[in-house]
Amino acid sequence: MSQHRFAEVVLPMPLDQPFTYAVPEGLRERIAVGMRAVVPFGNRVDTGYVVGLLEEAEREKLKAIVELPDAGPVFTSEMLELCKWLSQYYCCSWGEALDCAIPAGIQIRSRKRYSLIEEAMQPGKLSERQRKVLAELKLRGPLTEMQLAKVAGPTGLGSTLQSLVTRGVLDAEVVTESPTVNAQTETWFRLLPEAIPDGETLASMQRRAPKQAAVYLDMLHGEPERASIDLCEKHDANTTILRGLEQKGLVERFQRDVYRAPQMHFEPANIRKHSLNRDQLDAYAAIVAALEAARAQTFLLRGITGSGKTEVYLQVIERALALGRSAIVLVPEISLTPQTVARFVGRFKTQIAVLHSGLGAGERYDEWRRAQQGDVRIVVGARSAIFAPLSNLGVIVVDEEHDTSYKQSEVPRYHARDVAIMRANLSKAVCVLGSATPSVESYHNSESGKSTRIELRSRATNASLPEVLVVDMRNETREAGGDVTISRVLETAVNERVAEGEQVLLLLNRRGYSPYVLCPQCGWLATCPDCQVSMTYHSHGGYLNCHYCNARRSVPQVCDECHFNPLLYLGTGTQKVEELLERTFQGARIARMDADTTARKGGHARILRRLASGEVDILIGTQMIAKGHDYPGVTLVGVINADTGLAHPDFRAAENTFQLLTQVAGRAGRGDLPGRVIVQSFRPNHYAIRAAASHDYPAFYSQEIAQRESSAYPPFRRMGILMIECEDPLEAEKAMARLSRMVREQIEGLGFRGMETLGPSPATLRRLRKKYRWNLAVLSKSAKRINTLTRTVRQLFEAEYPGGKVQLKVDLDPYGIF
Ligand code: ADP
Ligand code: ZN
Ligand code: ZN
Repeated sequence: MSQHRFAEVVLPMPLDQPFTYAVPEGLRERIAVGMRAVVPFGNRVDTGYVVGLLEEAEREKLKAIVELPDAGPVFTSEMLELCKWLSQYYCCSWGEALDCAIPAGIQIRSRKRYSLIEEAMQPGKLSERQRKVLAELKLRGPLTEMQLAKVAGPTGLGSTLQSLVTRGVLDAEVVTESPTVNAQTETWFRLLPEAIPDGETLASMQRRAPKQAAVYLDMLHGEPERASIDLCEKHDANTTILRGLEQKGLVERFQRDVYRAPQMHFEPANIRKHSLNRDQLDAYAAIVAALEAARAQTFLLRGITGSGKTEVYLQVIERALALGRSAIVLVPEISLTPQTVARFVGRFKTQIAVLHSGLGAGERYDEWRRAQQGDVRIVVGARSAIFAPLSNLGVIVVDEEHDTSYKQSEVPRYHARDVAIMRANLSKAVCVLGSATPSVESYHNSESGKSTRIELRSRATNASLPEVLVVDMRNETREAGGDVTISRVLETAVNERVAEGEQVLLLLNRRGYSPYVLCPQCGWLATCPDCQVSMTYHSHGGYLNCHYCNARRSVPQVCDECHFNPLLYLGTGTQKVEELLERTFQGARIARMDADTTARKGGHARILRRLASGEVDILIGTQMIAKGHDYPGVTLVGVINADTGLAHPDFRAAENTFQLLTQVAGRAGRGDLPGRVIVQSFRPNHYAIRAAASHDYPAFYSQEIAQRESSAYPPFRRMGILMIECEDPLEAEKAMARLSRMVREQIEGLGFRGMETLGPSPATLRRLRKKYRWNLAVLSKSAKRINTLTRTVRQLFEAEYPGGKVQLKVDLDPYGIF
């Protein structure tokens, strides 16, 4: 008999230590490590995870676990360990890491709910915000803080509400919310073979209860396990009849899971299996050797677009399945890579679950359960699919491993590629990172021997790599005597391709019509009231839009400051180019693909379908058009402005530009016709642009790695960012000064020589969503030291600044620091 009288439970909150709870007698038989547990915490209940069981506790009087909502563990010991590592590496709590590894919406949680006290006295003087809260409660009845935050804003709302409670205006009660998502089950019956009655009993049953007998005989001679609903329908029976059979001990009732069907269907495509070419065979053999030996090994599969990487993944996974193992395939974003997903579905049919953003919470949970119960052996999905609950994992594929969407921007701020490598390690699985343009970090690892590099050197079909022409826009503008959006070479080329009935992709990484609205008299610039950025003019619908916080305002007719008109519209976005294209290429069918035209569900698919069926001649779009599509009709790719990304104040600016240009160039000439790429640039000699033009990854890498080494940036040192956010500019600055003192003291105190700080400095976006922001970067060769430092400093800081008015955010291995 197990005597697990106490359990250690971690909660999804930024609290590092597990809490010990008593296990009530009735749950002792059932409790196991890896289970969810509903526990009291403060005056609420929350759902945590059992990470340990104890026979003795230091204190005897402990709160008890309320409930174990599942039949068994939701985490294997391997997943518990993975999430523990994740929490340590990315500086969050174990509970937060576990919480992000299971589907949302299934947790039992309680919240405070506020209601108006009917007989309350006149509340006296109220602030604007307090009035808003009271009006909302009067209108809608009792609400939680989260619901109220939608009308009254989240920051400091807790104390506003508390003060209303103290004044006797509001009542607060704790309510337990049931999960918004539940498993769905159906009632089934199964025959009990040990209880089959003799002929005489059957005959008497046929006389006395003919319907019962009919159902029973049907199960005896047909399928022995049947859904209650099917039996009732077939025999025009009701549940009483089935219950009768159950009472006689002839059948037994059980619950069977039903899965909601995923909504988005992937037409199985390109099912034909190719026999591998020389390079592919070498890659396959190396990966499969590790797989068969159950050796955790990371491979970097570098191959230009169309070199047959996907075919290698497919065949490696086939081998893994034959060995009884399972597979995870990560793709950057499913709506942008439907063709890749369709090939996996086509090859593996029902053995696959697809996790994508188009799924509702219930469907997502069901796909997750299909994996957990072993009904599928392969999971394909974006970032969070790395936590898919598959057992006996053999392969993890990270396709387009350089893609920045693998980094999560909220807590826990993990990078799915790095989690993949760690998970493969723990599972003795192989991890295959694939890309035409590997991240500098991954390529560096393959140089230093941390991973094994395999290369596919040519396109798998006969298609050749497109020829790339770089147009020097300095000459163009000089000769035209003003702004040029489309150079003469590009214009001629587009005309030629369209006349031949071929298709053109044009890349401009900026949506909207024009990014600046400016007063020519006083220099006023339309900026977001909450962020320190200019608002972009959108011509469809006619409004200004902040691309960081999505705030909108109507188009100003006159200057906000000096009332001058007309205002100037400067700069070029996709809408403006679309308009220009319509004028320049009359008769051509033009479509636009950016966040605005794809906002509705299925928006991407609609545009890509039109492109595939030849209804579009020219597609203008943001970097969305650069991802994994394969459209044989596209023979020309134009890049309107290759330099925008280079201007970002980010040490990865060159890398991101090189990757984007190479990816978009790879869209040209994937069919029988040769492709051509025209890149417009004001910096045609920049190494990122030159290397992309000559399809020369090694040339790019050698320049880039030299730069990183001389400035000691990643991958030579690990970087962590400590960010302060506060609505008050002075407080933000003061808190940052205090924080950087703490950091320096700790570096000294801990004896971390060689650890360096950069900053503090105001963030590039000095103000975002009403908050002023400061950054401090820490750099060290040791990730462990950065973790120790940030953890210690965070504890000290939060002790000094409780209440959340000043917020400290920590980001390890940051991407896109604004
Ligand atoms: P990648 O993933 O590197 O972009 P794919 O695996 O999609 O490359 O292959 C590009 C095209 O070549 C696809 O249409 C695929 O069906 C085809 N292909 C892949 N491998 C072979 C092969 N060994 N022989 C012939 N065609 C192949
Ligand atoms: Zn003005
Ligand atoms: Zn904004």
